[in-house]
Amino acid sequence: MIADIISKLKNKEISALELTKSYLNKIESENPDINAFITVTNDSAIKEASNVDDLISKSENLDELFSKMPLLGIPLAHKDIFSTKDVKTTAASKILEDYIPVYDATVVSKLKSSGGISLGKLNCDAFAHGATGENSDFGPTKNPYDKSRVAGGSSSGTGAAVASEMVVFATGTDTGGSLRNPASFTNTVAIKPTYGRVSRYGIFAMSSSLDSIGHITTSAEDSALVLSQTAGFDPFDATTSKHPVENYLENIGADIKGKKIGIVKEYLSDEIDSEILEKTKSAINIYEKLGAEIIDISLPNSEYALASYYVITLSEVSSNLARFDGIRFGFDRDKFGDEAKRRIMIGTYALSAGFYDEFYVKAQKVRTLIIQDFKKAFEKVDAILAPVSPVMPPKIGEVVDDPMKNYLMDILTVPVNLAGLPALSLPCGFSSKGLPVGIQLIGDHFSEKNLYNLGYNFERISK
Ligand code: GLN
Repeated sequence: MIADIISKLKNKEISALELTKSYLNKIESENPDINAFITVTNDSAIKEASNVDDLISKSENLDELFSKMPLLGIPLAHKDIFSTKDVKTTAASKILEDYIPVYDATVVSKLKSSGGISLGKLNCDAFAHGATGENSDFGPTKNPYDKSRVAGGSSSGTGAAVASEMVVFATGTDTGGSLRNPASFTNTVAIKPTYGRVSRYGIFAMSSSLDSIGHITTSAEDSALVLSQTAGFDPFDATTSKHPVENYLENIGADIKGKKIGIVKEYLSDEIDSEILEKTKSAINIYEKLGAEIIDISLPNSEYALASYYVITLSEVSSNLARFDGIRFGFDRDKFGDEAKRRIMIGTYALSAGFYDEFYVKAQKVRTLIIQDFKKAFEKVDAILAPVSPVMPPKIGEVVDDPMKNYLMDILTVPVNLAGLPALSLPCGFSSKGLPVGIQLIGDHFSEKNLYNLGYNFERISK
């Protein structure tokens, strides 16, 4: 927990340097096996940690210092699609193998200003295309709970690094589930904020109308603290919102008696793994015990969400990847992996003259219907509870050559992105094989504070 570490730093029970070194040691011993990091920034992390210790020793008012820099001394890492000044940023693709950005993504600079110490860059599916982490050109990330299985994707390194305590928290992106999926596979907590809540500036765009920038932590409270540092309007990203950033930690532990939680009948079909359904039911019981009112709801257009997502996403991917033409930066286009090539081809087809109305425009219309379904639901409920993944973490190699199987893993996560809603994914116990299972709480636009309140109360009973 970040709060515990901060209190130890404040009371001088540990130094930032000791703390950083202990995490770097963990990376040294665990990472060769797990493959969560693409780049480890040992030297700069040690330098930054010493600077933090200087700042602490010179400070006359530590409360003031830590309230200005709430993440002071906290070891973190970034998914390798966040631009980091002077630090190699590959998007897990060979096409960017040598690329060194000249500026930081807004989230990277915000977390620096909050005092966080970056230990490096994390593995993921190349350009964030995938749900298992196996589309990385730098090898798959292994699941710390069972190393023969994937850690989820696309933010595979983010989930695995947090779960195996190589960092305290890590950033990632969620275009169709890429934070919630690895969190549910690695027993960690992920926030996919409302679209436009966190700046996308400086992060390689996958699908610009869906990309959401969030993070993985080990608790709802840590997640709330980090979001309070990353959220907000950014003049460099015209899609960020001026909606005020709330104090997500205020009343996080408040009673949730009487809150209404919706259960979507279309999300609990027999296509979902039976143990995942069972765990979802046990989560519903916990909320009943906490005094929430459980209400059955329907999102009738859910069955069209995946098709609509893959038409819209692949169209936007084909346009966004056009910048890697081998002229301005990066290597030649033949360095693209199979999945990027597949997405460019399908996306270009969907956008081409004659097919545009039939595919792209139709998918956008379906998207509107999905948004309307959610809006209607939120007239009746404060949040929706659902499973995250329909399947347990696959074995490495099990689904990688079957794109349809891969895409079907996103069936419960993509509706949230299509509607631009926030969702919090929480650990919900383990399967009979000892594999982590996650649930997600979905809220109306800008209701992150409510999700954290619900998540915090859930953790109190489920942990
Ligand atoms: N698995 C989804 C896809 O491959 C989502 C990826 C993401 O959220 N970045 O498109």
